[in-house]
Amino acid sequence: MGIDTWTSAYAAVQTALTAMEATLSLRPHYLSSSSSSSSSSSSSSSSSSSSSSSSSSSSCSAVMANGNGDTDNVATFALIRPPGHHATTNLCGGYCYLNNVVICTAHYLSSSPPPSSPTQQQEQQEQQEQQEQQQQPSQRKCIIIDIDFHHGNGVEEILHRQSPATTPNAGSTPDKGSIPWPHRCKYISLHAHPDYPYYTTHHPSPLPKSTTLSAYLSTLSSRLESLESWCASSTGPDSTGGANTTTGGADTTGPLVLVSLGLDTLSSDPVGGFAGFRTRADYIRVGEMVGAFVRRTRGRGCFLLEGGYVVEKLGECVEGVLRGFMAGVNGGEREG
Ligand SMILES: [Zn+2]
Repeated sequence: MGIDTWTSAYAAVQTALTAMEATLSLRPHYLSSSSSSSSSSSSSSSSSSSSSSSSSSSSCSAVMANGNGDTDNVATFALIRPPGHHATTNLCGGYCYLNNVVICTAHYLSSSPPPSSPTQQQEQQEQQEQQEQQQQPSQRKCIIIDIDFHHGNGVEEILHRQSPATTPNAGSTPDKGSIPWPHRCKYISLHAHPDYPYYTTHHPSPLPKSTTLSAYLSTLSSRLESLESWCASSTGPDSTGGANTTTGGADTTGPLVLVSLGLDTLSSDPVGGFAGFRTRADYIRVGEMVGAFVRRTRGRGCFLLEGGYVVEKLGECVEGVLRGFMAGVNGGEREG
């Protein structure tokens, strides 16, 4: 393994973290309405944010504005390679070396709020600080929605291994009485089986390659719906080891929703391909559903690129998901 590979993997993580941090300052309309009524100017569309990528990596991140002409940003996207969701604690595989989405999750759920920067939009920073103070790390929640064709075995393995029930001293030291970070994260994966990584998942019902778009959307809808009560509750221990008990208090913001965005669901992908994914319009439908979920749960969305190997189609598929997401966040989800 060459140094350039590790440099690229490191740059991908740094870019993912940059996008994730930018996500925390987003002010979609359903969150802005509960905070200060003043509005600060922000980018009009797709403004690039900073990236610490090295020259050997093509990774970059962007903040997306909605399509309604106002200035509320609705999501961030990290255009990164190599992908990460197959990387386990001690195994690289499936083109993955460092698990980008889990690193972002662990950082978000266990780190302190970022310090304010006097040089960057002071007013927006103050609003962000107010929200973050209301939602300290021990109260935060994260949802990983993995819509790559393949199972994110690395994500599942790390979350399971980091669970205090498995390794009592693993992970960061939680505040007294708080729930350790792996238990404040929910992971759903809509992956194919049988296919790489041929892992015996704990998650239900892998999908056959013959899955139609309507069947895929139905499965995605039901799995997202199953998370909504958890999103609405305050963090607290439940009998299953998750954080699912209402303990009082009201969070003003919902979960950070990290989307492992794999485009190898495209039917013509050389290493994947569900039968139902053929055009950009199919990806718009997926994006709409995820966006509507983020809106309903008062969350914030951050997309991290995973797989997708029909290079000439990759751009339009990504654009379709993100455009659909913006419509869903703004209440424009279509039926069916
Ligand atoms: Zn994949």
